[in-house]
Amino acid sequence: MTDPKDRFALPHIQEAKAYVPGEQPEDSGWVKLNTNENPFPPSPKVESAIKAALEGLRLYPSPTASGLRKQVAAVHGLDSEWVLAGNGSDDVLNLLIRAYGDSTHKVGAMDPSYSLYAILCGIQGAVFEAVPFEGEMSIPVNTVASGGFNLFFLTSPNAPTGVGFSNEEVSSLAVALNGILVVDEAYGAFANESADELVKGHSNLLITRTFSKSHSLAGLRVGYLLGNPDIIHTLDKVRDSYNLDGLAQAGAIAALEDPGYYRAIIGKICRIRDYYLQSFMQRGWVTFPSQANFICTQPQRATGETGVDVAKSCFEFLKDRKILVRFFPKNRWVNSYLRISVGTEEDMDTLSEALDSWMF
Ligand code: PMP
Repeated sequence: MTDPKDRFALPHIQEAKAYVPGEQPEDSGWVKLNTNENPFPPSPKVESAIKAALEGLRLYPSPTASGLRKQVAAVHGLDSEWVLAGNGSDDVLNLLIRAYGDSTHKVGAMDPSYSLYAILCGIQGAVFEAVPFEGEMSIPVNTVASGGFNLFFLTSPNAPTGVGFSNEEVSSLAVALNGILVVDEAYGAFANESADELVKGHSNLLITRTFSKSHSLAGLRVGYLLGNPDIIHTLDKVRDSYNLDGLAQAGAIAALEDPGYYRAIIGKICRIRDYYLQSFMQRGWVTFPSQANFICTQPQRATGETGVDVAKSCFEFLKDRKILVRFFPKNRWVNSYLRISVGTEEDMDTLSEALDSWMF
């Protein structure tokens, strides 16, 4: 049966595609390495703070998430006027496109990168154009700068490859661009450097971050944006009045109050990542150097064969053994690769053993 069209929906909404998130299985027993969640639990302080916040559910939360903005600002050495909080960083990305993109104000991003940018543009009727990377994942600064973008997303570290860009590269792109440059640092906590230190020097540079990966709080939906107070003011006009619920605000603040806990788990994830990155390369698999909490690698049969069908066979072999990773058959850049979130050492050992049986 064909999908009946809703003839009352606006034409661009009828045409729009929905984002398809990674699978969240409902039964247990999976080794889940497909959505870049943190394999370790959040700080115990988060649970206590959320329990305490239950008392206040009768009341509306702080409309600006003022306590959270203050804490986030302190973490990044900024004042709270430089921070906007969102219901996940996806909420912030959506607000940016709502405020800076339409049919005459073009939005762009690098290809490959996070596929949600284009989908949000489709929903908001904004023109979107993807700019391909050059050579070994380098940014074609002149092409981006001359592309007429009002808003441009640079995912750093990149998703789905994990490749990180230096502050020197970010800074030269911000200077060259006659528009707003958003560095999506969803995976920034696992990277060598952050562009947060550049925002004061570039009025068109914004950074987005999330608690979903680094702070083990994907289920709470908290993200934020760092940038010029004039831009924060614009976005404050556009967002829902209470875009962050009270429990989310309390949980995120508590997470920031336990930096030692998070330093330890982030360090552990980076060590596991670096170990397995080496182990994929030792298999002879082409693997991007990752600065994120995932590894993008090209499965190779013992015969040396690679390609979309090989990646698909590896993906399905793992899935049959209840190991979930991400396969992007429609993206021409990475359709022969798999993106594997960094799990616990046990998760990664289970994966490794399964890959050995797939290969040989
Ligand atoms: N940016 C990138 C590059 C991502 O991969 C994700 C997670 N899918 C997000 C933003 C959104 O993260 P969240 O909404 O959970 O904060």
